[in-house]
Amino acid sequence: MKNRGAGPVGDMSPDELREEGRRLVEWVAGYLQWSLKNPVLSRVRPGAIRAALPAAAPEEGEPFERILADFERILVPGLTQWNHPGYFAYFPCGFSTPGALADFLSTAVSQQAMLWRTSPAATELEDVALAWLRRALGLPDAFEGVIYDTASTAVVHALAAARHEKAPEVRTRGLAGHGLPAFRVYCSEHAHSSVDKAAITLGLGHENLRRIPADGEFRMRPDLLAAAVDEDRRAGYLPLAAVATVGTTSVTSVDPLPAIAEVCARQGLWLHVDAAYAGAAAILPECRWAIEGMERADSFVLNPHKWMFTPFDLSAFYCRKMDLLRAAFQLTPEYLKTSEAPEVRNLMDTGFQLGRRFRALKLWVVLRYFGLEGIRARLREHLRLARLFAGWVDADPGFERVAPVPFSVVCFRAVPRGMGEGASLNAFNERLLADLNDSGEVFLSHTSLGGRYVLRFAVGNIRTTETEVRGAWDRLRDLARALR
Ligand SMILES: *Cc1c(COP(=O)(O)O)cnc(C)c1O
Repeated sequence: MKNRGAGPVGDMSPDELREEGRRLVEWVAGYLQWSLKNPVLSRVRPGAIRAALPAAAPEEGEPFERILADFERILVPGLTQWNHPGYFAYFPCGFSTPGALADFLSTAVSQQAMLWRTSPAATELEDVALAWLRRALGLPDAFEGVIYDTASTAVVHALAAARHEKAPEVRTRGLAGHGLPAFRVYCSEHAHSSVDKAAITLGLGHENLRRIPADGEFRMRPDLLAAAVDEDRRAGYLPLAAVATVGTTSVTSVDPLPAIAEVCARQGLWLHVDAAYAGAAAILPECRWAIEGMERADSFVLNPHKWMFTPFDLSAFYCRKMDLLRAAFQLTPEYLKTSEAPEVRNLMDTGFQLGRRFRALKLWVVLRYFGLEGIRARLREHLRLARLFAGWVDADPGFERVAPVPFSVVCFRAVPRGMGEGASLNAFNERLLADLNDSGEVFLSHTSLGGRYVLRFAVGNIRTTETEVRGAWDRLRDLARALR
């Protein structure tokens, strides 16, 4: 019965899988309990993990149990606990236990949906799960969906499709040496850095991404967008696309989609909407306003791995002109030709990546396990917790809120009495954040707004409750008092 460790050839035996699998699930269930007592932010020093591990792989196989023991002893202390209820940094992750189980299942059945024939189930479930999500958002069927790993990958594809529409010859001839003017792409000053990286990746040139100033509530100004496009046209550039953001990364502001869509339509620009974080909230009727106008976009993306309880990674990309995207990327070598090709969707055609994971499974499992009402209830709880926190900030003269709270992120800072605007106030807040994170109870991150160092309190973890929110606030007030 103790058939442990690898045989001379072949895989782990089914009996060993049963035994080790049970142990692993037991371990995970325990970890989700006891890890709460460990610091949210890992306390290891740089290099410590590497130093604790041998420099070369073992020649002889080792029992799974021993490997797991080393995982716990060496690697667990180096885990930043994204699924800890005290995690309030950046945007929290979309962890949920059913999602994690689905990810294991996806790997266990080892599907690779490059062609329909290499996984009819993964190919067709992707259609179904994305249609469910699109319907929950109330957006038209004209948006065809595809799953990518990240929103960063999605924006590269959106801009590549936009370019293919304007200049299909780029696919064959490249960008240089045939008299094509430089393309220009526009986004708000608060847009995510993935837009910059997309411009760099596609060879558009970083300086050809123009960041448009925002209004007093951090939303892109459509009048300045229109002016920038006009100016670029006069200067001989070829305006290509605008990226609007629903839920900017620093402050979760929402660009005015209807007005931006109007400018894009008038100017012939592709409109890509980056709703990576806040798009999920639009399944709540009270947040639907945030994507008003999205139906006029050419493409949009939202990340169920950010705020829809789907473990990393799963980014849902939708496009009205997926045929254009396919035209930009489709290329079928002889060895991938199949007889059913005309009647099916081969997912390798909708992007530059050939092999792809069976990601749709975890989205489908999460949507079914919680149900749309269950997801809405959890999102509403996060909105409530963020407003509760914002209310405490507003009521305390030692703190101030520096941006509206449309969703579940509160941007704020400490303002000790008698300390004026400037470097020392920024340093005070930086120190406050460092002390708070050192406490190990919570993890918050920061941003900079108009030269001000600002703390971000981002609720989004499925395990977060009012207890952790209150704990974070109490700790912040104590530390601010002690620092003064
Ligand atoms: C997080 C974020 C991204 C990047 O997401 P990835 O999926 O990690 O590439 C892009 N845009 C916005 C607005 C984001 O908040």
